[in-house]
Amino acid sequence: MASVDYIIVGGGIGGCVVASRLHQKYPSASLLLIEAGPDVSKHPMIVNSTPTPMLQHSELDWDYKTTPQKHLGNKICFGAAGKALGGGSAINACGWVRGDRIDYDAWGKQVGDARWSYSGILPYFRKTENHHTPYANPKEHGFEGPIYTSSVTSSGRNYPLRDMVKAAWEAIGLEQIPDANSGSPQGFADLNENRRNGKRQLATDAYPLDGIKVMTGTLVKRVIVKQNSGRRVATAVELASGVVLTARKEIIISAGAYRTPQVLMLSGIGDSADLKKHGIEQVVDLPEVGKNLHDHLGIPQRWKLRHPEKGYSLGSPLFNDPAFAFGSPLDFVATQTVPISGLKAALEKDEGAVTESHPLLQPPRSHLEAYIIYVGANKEDPAIAMDGSHIATRVVGLLPSSRGSVTLASSDPADDPIIDPKYYATEADRYVIRTGLKVLTKMLLETEEGRAFVESETTPAGFDPITEKTGDEEIDRRVSKVGDTLYHPAGTAAMGKVVDADLKVYGVDGLRVVDASVIPIPIAAHYQACVYALAEQAADII
Ligand SMILES: Cc1cc2nc3c(=O)[nH]c(=O)nc-3n(C[C@H](O)[C@H](O)[C@H](O)COP(=O)(O)OP(=O)(O)OC[C@H]3O[C@@H](n4cnc5c(N)ncnc54)[C@H](O)[C@@H]3O)c2cc1C
Repeated sequence: MASVDYIIVGGGIGGCVVASRLHQKYPSASLLLIEAGPDVSKHPMIVNSTPTPMLQHSELDWDYKTTPQKHLGNKICFGAAGKALGGGSAINACGWVRGDRIDYDAWGKQVGDARWSYSGILPYFRKTENHHTPYANPKEHGFEGPIYTSSVTSSGRNYPLRDMVKAAWEAIGLEQIPDANSGSPQGFADLNENRRNGKRQLATDAYPLDGIKVMTGTLVKRVIVKQNSGRRVATAVELASGVVLTARKEIIISAGAYRTPQVLMLSGIGDSADLKKHGIEQVVDLPEVGKNLHDHLGIPQRWKLRHPEKGYSLGSPLFNDPAFAFGSPLDFVATQTVPISGLKAALEKDEGAVTESHPLLQPPRSHLEAYIIYVGANKEDPAIAMDGSHIATRVVGLLPSSRGSVTLASSDPADDPIIDPKYYATEADRYVIRTGLKVLTKMLLETEEGRAFVESETTPAGFDPITEKTGDEEIDRRVSKVGDTLYHPAGTAAMGKVVDADLKVYGVDGLRVVDASVIPIPIAAHYQACVYALAEQAADII
């Protein structure tokens, strides 16, 4: 193949958006998008909208394993990531959760560039959206973008537990807000999703790749960097097969938060000691490559319904409205802060004395997410049949201070990198999750409104139900047993550390990163909306 102007490595969410928009912007430029996974536009699991849990461990999933997680009793955790043209959009749960403006403002401040603050990225959230809810504020939402988004109610789902769940959240003092995707999510609001008529939208459907040369089933090994007039310039990529493809203008790495740092390190861009260990010639000493891995840990629980005969959850023959198939079976996402005094004390255990102006304390941040799901069936412990007898909940720590890493296992690009998220490693993270679990118990078992539909918690074997009196150690034991990721790895080529605010890799001309790797700090979001928006902004910058 003759050389092209731009090569994009990885056809996931970031890669598809940036390729599609660059083609629109520079129609005469030649673009090559290289994706390790297959084109899945006609794959039966995509066409039939197979639910996310059944896509995990499938051929469309990289199916990663972490190192034993010290703070989760040395458990090895599972880490899914889409291996397909479309990346995460091929297997994710389609939640559309933008996050809190405070987090984006902290990002913009940290990198000293207002384009990454909330007001800076907002035009790109709007640009990506084709939003469908009756109450959408046009200052916050877009209505002509490629991604169709809608809420539970606007998709026509009217779940039987909705009013009771609403009353329970209100009973513990949470306020219903009309729209969690307006930059101020604290309270509880309808879940938003990016399904269209109940069907998953692939990034490639929303952002067409017509006019772009696309190679699928093709693994990139590394970027080749040459010296040119005293500067280091990215000139080509080498595939795992050894084939070399040349780029005249730029190479953009969008291989996701696990494999973008792998490609950088295999290219000689990373920590010099690590590279030496694998016999890789140093190009730029960038020790932060692969560091700063952050992710969202979630804690699932199951609850026995007081009146299973009423058809409140999936598995009951009465839970049968065809509209329920149009999205995940839940109504609301609740976002909360935590008591500042408790969090301050926890931070002091981690960091020594801190003041009230610590960035995780002020203004009151969105630390916790929780939701009630109208399906309680479970294959693992506690085993629960798909019979409509249970519902489930999940508590999520949104702003973890734990940081992990992605390092090379070998110099072979086909080997998975070593993933060590260091889940639950800080007292601050433990405080937030313990608080969230107790708040949820209080709501479901200690308010009249919660008890109206929940009878009791069904625990894994060897565990008592969590109550207000449950000690920290016991809660941590439970978290170790059941805690798992929401599949939001990010930060491994962090802006300000590995790339600049124009997404250019420090020390190499013609090389950028456009994917979740650049998100420098945790955001109280589910990351697809953020990655769609950041890739839209990237295409404007390039
Ligand atoms: C199971 C699951 C459920 C999720 N649910 C939600 C949700 O409900 N809501 C939400 O907002 N987010 C969700 N996410 C997260 C979201 O999908 C990701 O944050 C998002 O996809 C990240 O985009 P990205 O561009 O950084 O990476 P990806 O979309 O993962 O794209 C990276 C691409 O690069 C390719 N690639 C990697 N290495 C190479 C290489 N060396 N050569 C060539 N190609 C390569 C990969 O195959 C992949 O296609 C979920 C993720 C998973 C896995």
